[in-house]
Amino acid sequence: MVHARGVCVDGCDHEPVDAGHVEKCIAWIRHHAKRGSVPNRWTTSYGWKHEVEREHGYVSNGSLIVAAIREGYTPHEAGLGSPNLCFNMWPAGAAEIPLIRGLR
Ligand SMILES: [Zn+2]
Repeated sequence: MVHARGVCVDGCDHEPVDAGHVEKCIAWIRHHAKRGSVPNRWTTSYGWKHEVEREHGYVSNGSLIVAAIREGYTPHEAGLGSPNLCFNMWPAGAAEIPLIRGLR
């Protein structure tokens, strides 16, 4: 189950995912990301959601997760007990490569 903070783990407040945030994430993903054959473990849903916020303002970690799954990305655990997930999501263009190097 996914709530606003992400995967429902210990400490989750069970706040529901905002549908408007999901729409913003979907719009961003369609412009800036592409599916790859392997999971991107350089970043997580939490890193991606901060990229979305550069264009769209606040969105929750959970909304990024819901959006990525709806867009057909495959989720992978980011770590035991983590509310974040990794996806086979990669920057759509070379100009966005710094994103996966953690330079921001
Ligand atoms: Zn929860």
